[in-house]
Amino acid sequence: MATYLIVGAGLAGAKAAQTLREEGFDGDIVLVGAENERPYERPPLSKDYLQGKSEREKIYVHPQDWYAGNGVELLLGTPVTRIEPADHAVTLAGGSRRPYDKLLLATGATPKRLPGPAVYLRTAGDSDALKRRLAEIGGGSGRVVVVGAGWIGLETAAAARLAGCEVTVVEPEPTPLHRVLGPELGEVFAGLHRRNGVDLRLGTGAAEITEEGVRLTTGERLAADLVVAGIGVAPEVGLAREAGLEVGRGVLTDASLRTSHPDVYAAGDVAEPFNPLYGRRLHVEHWANALNGGPAAARAMLGQEVVYDRVPYFFTDQFDLGMEFSGDTTGYDEVVHSGSVDDLEFVAYWLREGRVVAGMNVNVWDVVGGIQDRIRSGDVVDPKELTSG
Ligand SMILES: Cc1cc2nc3c(=O)[nH]c(=O)nc-3n(C[C@H](O)[C@H](O)[C@H](O)COP(=O)(O)OP(=O)(O)OC[C@H]3O[C@@H](n4cnc5c(N)ncnc54)[C@H](O)[C@@H]3O)c2cc1C
Repeated sequence: MATYLIVGAGLAGAKAAQTLREEGFDGDIVLVGAENERPYERPPLSKDYLQGKSEREKIYVHPQDWYAGNGVELLLGTPVTRIEPADHAVTLAGGSRRPYDKLLLATGATPKRLPGPAVYLRTAGDSDALKRRLAEIGGGSGRVVVVGAGWIGLETAAAARLAGCEVTVVEPEPTPLHRVLGPELGEVFAGLHRRNGVDLRLGTGAAEITEEGVRLTTGERLAADLVVAGIGVAPEVGLAREAGLEVGRGVLTDASLRTSHPDVYAAGDVAEPFNPLYGRRLHVEHWANALNGGPAAARAMLGQEVVYDRVPYFFTDQFDLGMEFSGDTTGYDEVVHSGSVDDLEFVAYWLREGRVVAGMNVNVWDVVGGIQDRIRSGDVVDPKELTSG
């Protein structure tokens, strides 16, 4: 009987296990996770769960009894310390070895860290601790400094404001989300946060974080009761690198999510697959990529023809802005929109040489399919057609 072993019990790993069973795999499935929690989804950790608006039970990918009920051996609190592709075996913390026929790497990513006493938000435990701290210091007097105006930083800033804290966000770029959205849409997020009382310090970084707060690169000191850093993540590629697999920013795979070893696959935040739609490798660190990439890798492990060519997709909720983003803005030369930016109800399109490369719907729903079809088609469009939509 074949054994398929999945390293990393997050969303990608859990969805891969589910797909293996749904597709009729009747061998052994072993899902090994470093955390003590069964697989859960991370987006609520900086949104409704952090804000105390949803229960713990809602974050989990499957009910507790799903694993035993589906013959999935779930090993929690057990990091894999080594993989040996040539021997088809892994070593677990504690030293025991487990053989496999095929392996999926779904080890995710870890927050980049800064020197000093900042807190980070990646795990359910991080979110619980942050929620408790915000409740302790909230109520108008707590001072929170958020380092980094990316998705996690902005969502955390919103949660801290809603908890009653004074919030300052520090970001070296000229707007929030500058690298992903560019200045035009970055300004929309800047406006949103300013309107909600967040003090944005743009064009300056954190030079030093101490128990007293943050010293900025400009020399200014911001006193803080809590410093949260959201400065990006690094894919967990250590095991793959030590095993001699090809690694770039993530673990390199072909379009079927197969790594440089034929019996090892990678999916989710850790993977850097070749995406045929873009004709290049695309490293995506978003929920939908774990949700869809895990199952795609599982099907490839079963020998099915898999071409993973999805348009990247992301969503966020901050204050009264809910949005979905599709595509990749790299190299865009024009941004147009339909609807009203002032009323926070619009669809923005990024174009490159007249073709839609990305789109973002803000408080407008059920349009993602149409946006992604435009990106996929690669057709040159008349911007007027987009602005009147
Ligand atoms: C607070 C937060 C909010 C987010 N919000 C959004 C959002 O709104 N929209 C969106 O699109 N995306 C969001 N994301 C990103 C999204 O959650 C990730 O893209 C997704 O979790 C990736 O899933 P994954 O299974 O690849 O990795 P992970 O969820 O990181 O799971 C990987 C698991 O592997 C384990 N692991 C690592 N190394 C080993 C090892 N050696 N042995 C065993 N196990 C190991 C890790 O402990 C971890 O549990 C958010 C992320 C965070 C942290």
